[in-house]
Amino acid sequence: MVIPNQKVHLPLLEEKDVTLYIKREDTVHPFVSGNKYRKLKYNVIEAKKREYTGLLTFGGAFSNHIAATAFAGKEAELKTLGVIRGEELIDNWQENPTLKQAKEHGMEFHFVSRSDYREKDSTEFIKKLEALFGDFYLLPEGGTNTLAVKGCEEILNETDTDFDFICSCVGTGGTVAGLINSSKLHQTVLGFPALKGDFLKQDILKFAGNKNWELISDYHFGGYAKVNENLIDFINTFKKETGIPLDPIYTGKMLFGIFDLIKKDTFKKGAQILAIHTGGLQGIKGMNLVLKKRSLPLLDV
Ligand SMILES: *Cc1c(COP(=O)(O)O)cnc(C)c1O
Repeated sequence: MVIPNQKVHLPLLEEKDVTLYIKREDTVHPFVSGNKYRKLKYNVIEAKKREYTGLLTFGGAFSNHIAATAFAGKEAELKTLGVIRGEELIDNWQENPTLKQAKEHGMEFHFVSRSDYREKDSTEFIKKLEALFGDFYLLPEGGTNTLAVKGCEEILNETDTDFDFICSCVGTGGTVAGLINSSKLHQTVLGFPALKGDFLKQDILKFAGNKNWELISDYHFGGYAKVNENLIDFINTFKKETGIPLDPIYTGKMLFGIFDLIKKDTFKKGAQILAIHTGGLQGIKGMNLVLKKRSLPLLDV
């Protein structure tokens, strides 16, 4: 699956003599994040090969990974079970666009409290789930494991070797690890974490070498799924000017960061940048519900 790169035309880029292309992995599917789909590809093959009948995974109420797992499971004729953070959702999950969509794709939910959710990696917790739901192929939260990284190594292809910089959002780090592994040594991979945390570097090193990459940690906007008016305004303006929609949790923050770095002349003249649009657009509806409650401006849809 080779996804085209789209050139971005904006006055600032000309003024600074920087070229920016966006790999439109968001076009893989209207509500399945491009990178989540890639992360699931080899895991689904493995689950089938080992004759599992179901996938089980974890996520919050707006999780792109939950949405993608539901869809991939349906496609592969595997049952899907989502362990969802937040007991309060038991009575009103229907109001949550991500969960509603996942349910339509056949996912069953198991809602747990925030404190139980924190135990999700313990053997005891997994044993309890097995007692409840039988044998299943287990995917970690966010979907990152060795097979997921292998899938993300397929994002870059032969035509991408001319770029000086490859930019990606970072959640658990699986996607950027795949990009690091398949990038060339003359390229620099820049990861833009969407959350606060010093653990990310170590997490990435579990799956990728310590070579041509760095994390740019200045653009998480206070933490995971935290947003402010500046960010919303940037996303809406970017869409108006380029036609490219961005999500508020990952890609919006990364592109905000890339443009800020361009403004500050961080990239040399003539630099060629490729930013990976990992998708996440299914999360816009849910974020707008949150913004509305907080009387903040909404994201254009
Ligand atoms: C999950 C996600 C990421 C982060 O991917 P990781 O492999 O967890 O680092 C980036 N962008 C979008 C849209 C995502 O859904």
